[in-house]
Amino acid sequence: MGGGPTAARSLVEPYPGSDRNGPGLVGRGMPRIANWCGRVWASPAEILRPTSEPELCRLVRRAAREGRRVKVVGARHSFGRIWTTDDLMIELSRFHRVLQVDRERMQITVQGGMPLHRLVRVLERFGLALPNIGAWMEQTVAGVTSTATHGTSGRYRQTLPESVVRMRLVDGRGEPRVLEGAALRQVTLGLFGIITELTLQCRPFFFVRQHKHAVPREEAVERALAALERHDLVDLRWAGSVPRALVGQWDVEPGPPSWRDRLRQSIEATRLWAVNRTVAAYPASRMPTALSTRVWEVLGHAYVEASERPSRVSPWYRGLTYDSRGFAPPHDEIELALPRARAAACLREAIALMQEDRRSAAIEVQVRFSPAIDMALAPNDGRETAWLNLNVFDAVAAAPVVDALVRLAYSYEARAHWAKVIPASDRRPARRHPRWRQWEATRAAFDPHGVFLNRWYARCFGGVSGELEPTQEVAA
Ligand SMILES: Cc1cc2nc3c(=O)[nH]c(=O)nc-3n(C[C@H](O)[C@H](O)[C@H](O)COP(=O)(O)OP(=O)(O)OC[C@H]3O[C@@H](n4cnc5c(N)ncnc54)[C@H](O)[C@@H]3O)c2cc1C
Repeated sequence: MGGGPTAARSLVEPYPGSDRNGPGLVGRGMPRIANWCGRVWASPAEILRPTSEPELCRLVRRAAREGRRVKVVGARHSFGRIWTTDDLMIELSRFHRVLQVDRERMQITVQGGMPLHRLVRVLERFGLALPNIGAWMEQTVAGVTSTATHGTSGRYRQTLPESVVRMRLVDGRGEPRVLEGAALRQVTLGLFGIITELTLQCRPFFFVRQHKHAVPREEAVERALAALERHDLVDLRWAGSVPRALVGQWDVEPGPPSWRDRLRQSIEATRLWAVNRTVAAYPASRMPTALSTRVWEVLGHAYVEASERPSRVSPWYRGLTYDSRGFAPPHDEIELALPRARAAACLREAIALMQEDRRSAAIEVQVRFSPAIDMALAPNDGRETAWLNLNVFDAVAAAPVVDALVRLAYSYEARAHWAKVIPASDRRPARRHPRWRQWEATRAAFDPHGVFLNRWYARCFGGVSGELEPTQEVAA
């Protein structure tokens, strides 16, 4: 499994023994498959798209008998190697059906491969909504709950993984299991089994009124924290060393958008789409660094200034997601969960650091806030969190600033978001979690033969060797 053609400019580390730019460990005739933006590649020995749970059970049993590894993937909308394998890959693209809607309890049961963009529209027909959503809707419902995708938050608190009330999965022995109540309080990371069905607790469909204003960067952190006290959802964004930052705030609204609001939404989505297309088309790797820095600065200014806008209302899933007509330019993301109590100081330092260094031009930052949750291995397990997300468009140019920001965040006890790029310096991120041993024991009980392990698991739980065995310390 090596890097793909464009992976040389990615923040994702090559595995030991693999060649970042070439075929590396890839065997002849093996399929090549990339993540959503083509920056991370895998070469599984086989890719299968089963259609039923009994078929999945048979596949897993056979794999366990033959000592093979299985990795299930959703939309491959992760930024790191969590989804990769060089053995058997299972795609759940045929598990996309709605199984049941219970209007009275406001619950929906769907198959694990259902993409969010379809789910939100089905819910709308029944007058229902999820409590929250991340910036994008291409991912699958099993993928987002498996990695603790958090969404935008504030006083309006529940996050997506917390809305799961029942889960059905095929474990490492090839047996179906149903998880409810306390058993759901773990982020599975694709390491407990293959999730085939999920029942989600919904709430009545809602609209949000959104405001975005540009503020001087020196005031940005205080303004965002003050907004958090008054508004239902809040985020903070800044780009490179652009002198103004954006505070976004949303309030839940009972009524639908006016035609003016709809028109504004549509114009803005088109504008963001155009900015994104320009970013995607810019051949950063072939340009001199000084020119690139200038281009990123101009784009950063355009983005901040164009995003300031009067308030408008939209359906929750349009207002809370990054609506750019379904197009995002290829980029890397590192997202670090900071304890909320220490976040303000860290964010102020991060802003100052980027302002002083023009190599930050290719980085856009988004900060979101979420409550503490009771879910082993979720980055916000047991602590209120400010999520510091680095969107990195040119990994080579921005690398020194990214390193400095990562060091800064870890000095404030950050924990890495599992689906993003795990910083190279964070050798065993799982061990930052207070409940990782307990989680690991549960994982081993679900998958005693290690069928679902991959090298990413070894990297995050076991050490630096890239070996696939479960961690010795846990086994001992
Ligand atoms: C443009 C973009 C925007 C994003 N915005 C946000 C955001 O705002 N907030 C946030 O928190 N995250 C965000 N993410 C990250 C994203 O939500 C996660 O990477 C999510 O896990 C992707 O879901 P997926 O279906 O693509 O899963 P994949 O990337 O395919 O898989 C992720 C993990 O889930 C496991 N998995 C997938 N399906 C199953 C299954 N059926 N059973 C068991 N395990 C399974 C896989 O094995 C793997 O370990 C964003 C990603 C992108 C590309």
